[in-house]
Amino acid sequence: MSFNFLKKMPTPEEIKEELPLSAEAREVKKKRDREIADIITGADDRFLAIIGPCSADNEDAVLEYIERLSRVADKIKDAVLVVPRIYTNKPRTTGEGYKGIASQPDPMEKPDMIAGLKAMRHMHIRAISEFGMSAADEMLYPENWVYVNDLLSYVAIGARSVEDQHHRLTVSGFDVASGMKNPTSGDFSVMLNSVYAAQHPHHFTFAGYEVETSGNLLAHTILRGAVSKHGNTTQNYHYEDLIRLLSMYNDMDIVNPAAIIDANHSNSGKQFKQQIRIVHEVMHNRHFSSDIHSLVKGVMIESYLVEGNQKISDHTTYGQSITDACLGWEDTERLLYEMAEQA
Ligand code: PEP
Ligand code: MN
Repeated sequence: MSFNFLKKMPTPEEIKEELPLSAEAREVKKKRDREIADIITGADDRFLAIIGPCSADNEDAVLEYIERLSRVADKIKDAVLVVPRIYTNKPRTTGEGYKGIASQPDPMEKPDMIAGLKAMRHMHIRAISEFGMSAADEMLYPENWVYVNDLLSYVAIGARSVEDQHHRLTVSGFDVASGMKNPTSGDFSVMLNSVYAAQHPHHFTFAGYEVETSGNLLAHTILRGAVSKHGNTTQNYHYEDLIRLLSMYNDMDIVNPAAIIDANHSNSGKQFKQQIRIVHEVMHNRHFSSDIHSLVKGVMIESYLVEGNQKISDHTTYGQSITDACLGWEDTERLLYEMAEQA
């Protein structure tokens, strides 16, 4: 029962020097940060599609997916801004299982955190440099921010982290749009308190420093459905949920009220194909109500090259998820075009 300090992690400067982002790619990323920010504030009325595998487990498969995504993204760019999910850190309900490429560059091998850090940066850099697509990632470990703050255009705080003070305070220093998920219990006030905390300035210790943050006015909500005390999943993307969220937003000192609907997880009850229907319902509700139209800024979808998922132990299918089941490419492509027509 002790820590065994294995290796000292590189500093952010060291890792950025080894794996730099070119000046050109930096400009691409900054432009996308602004576009996403404008969608969150309402200055740009396009719809946001944050889409990609549950876990970015294999660089080649993820980059092939992003290559395909970039072609569709270009065709629908007037209506929908597409942001790939490159999720490099996976929260685990019991702590067991694959924790993402940042822990295990090879899902079959032992954890290697330094190699993981490099794999994480490498994949994000390629997405920006080769396809102009800066991505979304989950900030499962807040201290990781210093290693990727030049790369990410969108950050999510997961359902299991959103109640945690360190996560909330860290987001208050981010300069990109950051989505706070509802907790697995489904309590909207926990999520909104998290947005409130993230939108305000704080003073705390971070990455070995005493720091002050400015508050992140781009912090907003992500609805991912919930699990009841009886273990049933309950959805929270319906019309009534969105109206309730809006009224709770209005009662708080929070700017830029915004919500992203996560169509998978407890909203689909992990029935991944339901994501198609859920996205259509969201688009429909946006047409029905102008309040919902301005509240719901986008969707989050889990999608990969091959639909479904597979066990890690026999993960032989290239481009199929080893965590949550995802939509396959054909469904994804069709859904994105339909979304663009309805946005
Ligand atoms: C995810 O986005 O894959 C995820 C783990 O989400 P959540 O935190 O909502 O469970
Ligand atoms: Mn998932």
